[in-house]
Amino acid sequence: MTITALPSGSSSSWSPLCPHPGWEGVYGGLLSRCTSCGLHATSAQPEFVYDETYFTEDGTAGYNFESEFARAYDAARFESELRRLEARGLKGSVLDIGCASGAFLVHAQARGWEVAGVEVADFARERTESLLGVPLARSLDGLPAGKCFDVVTLHHVLEHIHEPLPFLRDEVAPRVGRLLVVEVPNFSSLASRVHGPRWRDLRPDQHVFHYTPALLSRLLSLAGFRPVRVTTLWEPLWSLRTALNSLRLPAGSRAPSQTRRPPARGRPRRGLGPG
Ligand SMILES: [Zn+2]
Repeated sequence: MTITALPSGSSSSWSPLCPHPGWEGVYGGLLSRCTSCGLHATSAQPEFVYDETYFTEDGTAGYNFESEFARAYDAARFESELRRLEARGLKGSVLDIGCASGAFLVHAQARGWEVAGVEVADFARERTESLLGVPLARSLDGLPAGKCFDVVTLHHVLEHIHEPLPFLRDEVAPRVGRLLVVEVPNFSSLASRVHGPRWRDLRPDQHVFHYTPALLSRLLSLAGFRPVRVTTLWEPLWSLRTALNSLRLPAGSRAPSQTRRPPARGRPRRGLGPG
């Protein structure tokens, strides 16, 4: 699920996503659902550590950004995203928050964008700096004061943030010149509903909140943005891999072999620790 949103001016009148939450257990207590607004949260606060293996090893928690599958997958989705932005006349400067190993920024730079990135994980940040030849910031505070970017992107970052509203409102929004792009797993997707607690993108060890398009739009509105477009990604490579895994077929030379999708990136965060 991808959402694009425009800054809507003053965001001084924000209120919490839900002023009177009441929680009930879901999936045997793995998640908690707010009975007032419907937002799902992981019941146990994730305290995941994003070290080098998270970015280099395929497995239950990591993802190898260097693999052939990762390169093909990232090229397809990021080139498509950049083309859509350019079709809106937005080509200029872009800030990728939680840029991980830099795949999006590498594609953006090759297409002529002025690139900047924020990455909290040292391994990923240093690798991306060497790829781009551009110094990156460890947090949003590390960017030049007052610096705005035409486009700001959050690819699989927001679901890791413990306090998403102040993060979006106070840290992200001041950096957005024209457009914000947010990509998160879609908790109301068919895959989520079919697989339930075993949905691969649930990742309760890492994800703090589990967003639907409606609740993400509401959160962004509260943070001072005006949602302008909500889309769901069609992921043929990923769908093929999921199908093969579901059928328990061995991954052949033509089949993607990993068992995890590109995860959330090492991300700036506020609040309760890594997650
Ligand atoms: Zn609520």
